[in-house]
Amino acid sequence: GLDHHWEMHVCRARGGARIVHLIDRTGQDAAERMRVDFVANASHELRTPLASILGYIETLADEAGADEQVRGRFLKIMLNESLRMQRLVEDLISLSRIEAEKFRPLDGEVDLGGLIGEVRSELSRETIRLDIAADVPPVSGDRAQLSQLLHNLIGNAVKYGRAGAPVTVRLWCDPAGNVRVSVTDEGEGIPPEHIPRLTERFYRVDDGRSRAAGGTGLGLAIVKHIVERHRGRLEIASIVGTGTTVTVILPAQGSTVIKR
Ligand code: ADP
Repeated sequence: GLDHHWEMHVCRARGGARIVHLIDRTGQDAAERMRVDFVANASHELRTPLASILGYIETLADEAGADEQVRGRFLKIMLNESLRMQRLVEDLISLSRIEAEKFRPLDGEVDLGGLIGEVRSELSRETIRLDIAADVPPVSGDRAQLSQLLHNLIGNAVKYGRAGAPVTVRLWCDPAGNVRVSVTDEGEGIPPEHIPRLTERFYRVDDGRSRAAGGTGLGLAIVKHIVERHRGRLEIASIVGTGTTVTVILPAQGSTVIKR
């Protein structure tokens, strides 16, 4: 046809080869495009570790007498690939659950200061510092979801922060009465052109780095959905070479909107 719309994607395969995907976008609207992409990306993310596990199983089955050391090494790789698939499946389940609960009312009262303390001990990292204001009232929210939000943000700050550098979690009320939580790292930072896209599913600034750190590419998409369910707002401020601060702004308890 005359108005065919092709989109090209290049990704790197094992051994440095490039794979080029050509996708025919003709007639797709933005929402459909996103859904099609999501299914394609999720399948691809699962297929890669699965292919690797199958390859190692076949090799081990062929070489029944393979020496102990080789076998141990293969098993370790298979374990890591399986864990990667597990993290991905868990994140996919979280994402669909949060989306399904989008319109369910928030019936809980959550003390964020207490929750931040809990998440800190679950992560058991010495480098996580807390700065919790004393006068912050509880927010209306879903405790499990807010815990996941904190895990994802603090997890990113640890993953992308400089090794051993502090990560600071702050909680305070702003002058308009909104509740704010911020997570600051001293990491490599994020170039500004990437910031608007970080909450897209599977969007990564540095693919290799995210994967090496065990990232699924879904963490901030999950955060965005949780923030939306809580009628909040997400702000990401970053300076390359210095670090990143991600701030979640939530309406004060009893309010359904963020006040200016
Ligand atoms: P991932 O599982 O890859 O960490 P996320 O959705 O949590 O996925 O984040 C998307 C991308 O945003 C990451 O791959 C990374 O490039 C970037 N990113 C997120 N948080 C930070 C941070 N604190 N510092 C630098 N880059 C970050």
